[in-house]
Amino acid sequence: MTKHMNNEAGKLAGKVAVVTGASKGIGAEIARAFGREGASVVVHYNSSKADADAVAAEVRELGGNAVIVGADVSGEDAGTTIVNAAVENFGRLDVLVNNAGISEFRAFEEFTADHYERQFRTNVLGTMLITAAAVKHFETGASIINIGSSATEFTPPAASVYIATKGAIDAFTRALASELGPRGIRVNCIKPGMTVTEKQLDDDSTVSDFVKTFVEQTPLRRLGKTTDIANAAIFLASDASAFITGERILVSGGLR
Ligand code: NAP
Repeated sequence: MTKHMNNEAGKLAGKVAVVTGASKGIGAEIARAFGREGASVVVHYNSSKADADAVAAEVRELGGNAVIVGADVSGEDAGTTIVNAAVENFGRLDVLVNNAGISEFRAFEEFTADHYERQFRTNVLGTMLITAAAVKHFETGASIINIGSSATEFTPPAASVYIATKGAIDAFTRALASELGPRGIRVNCIKPGMTVTEKQLDDDSTVSDFVKTFVEQTPLRRLGKTTDIANAAIFLASDASAFITGERILVSGGLR
């Protein structure tokens, strides 16, 4: 087997990153992109251990280091478990990508407390628990990247609770950027448009009426790719964005 060298010239060489929900979709792509740029990556998963193992292997192939860690982000110990994986394996933590999230589309007439709890616990409480654990280890130059959603801007139907979770992430990003700025810690948010992942959109569904209308309304006339989101994450994780904090960046082909 070929032994791969770390990419020491990469944009994230020497940095240690946690990417939550990195077993698939957008999180997996961010983990791979960070590996390509020379980072050491904690590939976090909840139920998909085999997928997380495969992503970690790819990160190493691409020029980074990787370990995996499993935890439900809404569990009380999740923050400590996930952040310790970075500190114990790589000695520090520089970048946190709060990507793990769920979306349950449902008409508001069918609202239940469970529907609220599941989405808020994963998307909002999970983000806060892990961030709280991470800020204990961060030093000047650290970067937090929250994954929000462009859905807060164009408000698709039957998504009011999901959109409320992502609105909370927008507000949290801005407030925390002010609070942590004096410590030299940056906090930004990427708001993806509809992005093609393994789960969500196979080739057939890309021709559904909903998706067709969506693409027609998007100035750049296509759906997002996971690499579109990962490229923005590299920028926000790297020192190229050293004077940018509290920003919420739409990566949605111009749909707003
Ligand atoms: P995905 O393919 O469904 O992957 C979700 C990831 O989150 C998986 O790794 C999953 O882990 C993890 N996860 C879910 N619930 C969790 C929990 N309770 N604890 C820990 N991990 C959990 O999602 P995606 O489409 O890539 O979306 C990623 C993020 O982007 C989400 O925050 C989503 O809201 C946002 N977003 C996505 C789109 C889009 O079109 N794809 C658009 C806008 C925003 P396991 O599989 O290991 O259980």
